[in-house]
Amino acid sequence: MKTSLRADRSNLTKKGRWLRSFHSLAMTQSIVLFSAYFFLFTLSSCSLLGLHVKVQNPKHANKYPKFSESTKLLGNENTKYRNCFDVTYYNLFVMVNEENKSLKGAVEIYATTLSDFDTLQIDLYENMKIISIISEEGKELSYTRKHGAIFVAIKEKANAKFSLAVDYEGSPLVAAKPPWKGGFVWSKDKEKNPWIGVACETEGASLWWPCKDVNNDEPDSVTINITVKKDLVAVCNGHLIGKTSNGMFDTYRWFVSYPINLYDVTLYVGKFKLLADSLEMPSGKTLSINHYVLPINYEKAKTHLAQAKDFLVFYEKTFGEYPWYKDGYKLVESPYEGMEHQSAIAYGAGYKNSYNGFDYIILHESAHEWWGNSVSASDFSDVWLQEGFATYAEALYVESTEGKNAYLNYLLVYRLFIANKYPVVGPAGYRYFDYRNSDCYQKGAWVLHTFRTQISDDKIFFDILKSFQEKYAKKTVTSQNFIDMVNEKTGEDYEWFFKQYLYERKTPILEYYWDGTDFYYHWKNVDPTFKMSAELMLDNLVKVNLKPTVKVQKIAVSSLTYKEISFNNYTKLFGIEKNKRLRKISPTP
Ligand SMILES: [Zn+2]
Repeated sequence: MKTSLRADRSNLTKKGRWLRSFHSLAMTQSIVLFSAYFFLFTLSSCSLLGLHVKVQNPKHANKYPKFSESTKLLGNENTKYRNCFDVTYYNLFVMVNEENKSLKGAVEIYATTLSDFDTLQIDLYENMKIISIISEEGKELSYTRKHGAIFVAIKEKANAKFSLAVDYEGSPLVAAKPPWKGGFVWSKDKEKNPWIGVACETEGASLWWPCKDVNNDEPDSVTINITVKKDLVAVCNGHLIGKTSNGMFDTYRWFVSYPINLYDVTLYVGKFKLLADSLEMPSGKTLSINHYVLPINYEKAKTHLAQAKDFLVFYEKTFGEYPWYKDGYKLVESPYEGMEHQSAIAYGAGYKNSYNGFDYIILHESAHEWWGNSVSASDFSDVWLQEGFATYAEALYVESTEGKNAYLNYLLVYRLFIANKYPVVGPAGYRYFDYRNSDCYQKGAWVLHTFRTQISDDKIFFDILKSFQEKYAKKTVTSQNFIDMVNEKTGEDYEWFFKQYLYERKTPILEYYWDGTDFYYHWKNVDPTFKMSAELMLDNLVKVNLKPTVKVQKIAVSSLTYKEISFNNYTKLFGIEKNKRLRKISPTP
């Protein structure tokens, strides 16, 4: 999903303060915010912005919430009741009743056993009622419930296959602020027709259907059968394999041919009109495109959504083959801004382009087909692998169409939002992803940008992205998997770099002092192993490549030759602070 942009007020120094006024006008409305940037960027896409961004390193870390028992039960804290089986397939049936905002459904869960067990855990929110749980042999299974966890009594031996069916019903959680605070959205379109959707990335799929609700066990495929009133259309992930009518109702059957994150499994119900298209991709394959939009917006959508093609072509060239050829690609008009639902991306951003002339919701969510949907973080602690990569993908697209300066400007605006209140990588084992902490987005993107500058070899950098994508396509990953790929491709150990930027909270500070004869410098806020290079500019003309460490070093810079020293905000993520005391610390030779 796309972050709701909020800049920390104190992040901006004088030059950026006028920009801040736009932020306060549009605290949560990122679209409005970006319209404000529009004119700024049209003025300056050929040159660098000249914003001075002060690094914000709060003295104290923000505290994580106290995780409740129900959060722990829902988290990835792999208990033996979940580790003992691997789900291979879900067959989901849901009847949507828009009048009383309820669901009636059933799910068949097919799995392989990984060890002997007599109990397993599946999940369904407490407010949803279980009617029955039936074994493959047709026996009713007993179970106990603890918050959202359901402990089912079922005895199986290792290396076997089994299935069970759960019948359930209820009124699912209603979304407070979709997609960030998720749940069901029971909306109406302008013509008063039902317009329904669900977003549950942070809450989990078990808010509306029973499943093993963890990010590290994706089924190999899923069938989603949605029954709705006859004049409505139900759209889900994957491709449509059938539609059957039964009196007043129609059932739409969608098949997802690939592994899928459970929070990506979704439905949209509305009076949609199909906007079919296709695209010849760089791989030589033909991608089928099947957008579903409200009829009132059909003509607008025809023109506006076509831009997705440019994004898909660019991403395939940059990251590797589009992951879901069998299922195709579609944007579905949603009653909320956007969400990366695999092969059925939610689009509700109003058919407007933001600055730079494109719709950044489509650009961002489409990047998630590679980063998030295909390569998925196995735990939300590593969600920067999805959000940071997708945010960075936006900047790469800008670079490809408008050049390096536009790329740097795009990233510099995102830099305003870096808050450093928590490390990028969060606490593992809980289903915890707080949309208000957006460092996994903007700082995540800056980690990649900084790393790219540090290695200063685009061939290796893009090979890393492609190879990581290829190796872990349709799989779940950790940050360590990425670091290992970096080390393998560079032939160097970059643990020191990622340790600082992912696991430490603060942004490094280059402390310096210039007394007119010598220039003193060192890294502050870093681990002793940190050894990133930094660029010093003399009279905006001469570049000096510094190799700072935690220890103070000095070089001779005479004020008789140079009048001015400077650093830039564009190349790497670090702050700059002047410290007179460095002169008194004996520099290392
Ligand atoms: Zn996102």
